[in-house]
Amino acid sequence: MKLLENKVCLVTGASRGIGRAIAQSMAEHGASIAFTYLSSPDKAKVLEDELAANGVKVKGYQSDASDFAAAEKLIADVLGDFGKIDVVVNNAGITRDNLLMRMTEDSFNEVIRTNLNSVFNVTKAVQKSMLKERNGSIINMTSVVGVKGNAGQANYAASKAGIIGFTKSVALELGSRNIRCNAIAPGFIETEMTDVLNKDVVAQWREAIPMKRGGTPKDVADLVVFLASDMSSYITGQVIHVNGGMLT
Ligand code: NAP
Repeated sequence: MKLLENKVCLVTGASRGIGRAIAQSMAEHGASIAFTYLSSPDKAKVLEDELAANGVKVKGYQSDASDFAAAEKLIADVLGDFGKIDVVVNNAGITRDNLLMRMTEDSFNEVIRTNLNSVFNVTKAVQKSMLKERNGSIINMTSVVGVKGNAGQANYAASKAGIIGFTKSVALELGSRNIRCNAIAPGFIETEMTDVLNKDVVAQWREAIPMKRGGTPKDVADLVVFLASDMSSYITGQVIHVNGGMLT
């Protein structure tokens, strides 16, 4: 059963990792896909071809989600190319880990701008067209770290906690117009973002997870498909965890 036929979905940061899996799953479910990337044009081209093999309309846009004006242009371009936007997945994100003692102002601001300002930028830019359609699902990628905190990630945790407050506020503001806004909090998902971590630390993390494994990007993508679809039409303002029981 295809859950996203006739829907136009925009995914930020889809050239790799979780965003890539989200774009793939949404295309398999019949959605037209607009996606963004920042520094990986070659990977984006490969993804465009792969997604188009599902017989859906696809376009990749090089766009910095942390830049307010670029986000406004992105939404105008996607609306011009696709006619409407039903679903936005604010997925683009970075880490710049360090203990607070060594964290620079620049690395704090860079993470807040890329992870949190981006969610504001894209959501604000898309809001008008969703209001006009009286329809929309906005899905924001937070993290277990935004709920629990993590030593060495004060910048990242602050950005991800900010996303939760933003998500709930948008859900309250736009619910009466049939626009839903939810957040997904992945636990430990094995991607390029986590490949840089120490192998022993990763083994310890897997052992501490009740399901004894890291998550896959598809584990997260499956929830995105559900939240994007009409199967979740009465779910808004929620933070849904995908973490193998990590925080239980
Ligand atoms: P990843 O493999 O590092 O991929 C990050 C993606 O974001 C890339 O496509 C990158 O594009 C894009 N990006 C970065 N800065 C951008 C910007 N300013 N504008 C537009 N795109 C930008 O990361 P991931 O592990 O898939 O994580 C995806 C999301 O899930 C992030 O928000 C992350 O915080 C969250 N998350 C991940 C985990 C985990 O365990 N992996 C856990 C919890 C939450 P380029 O390739 O073009 O640079």
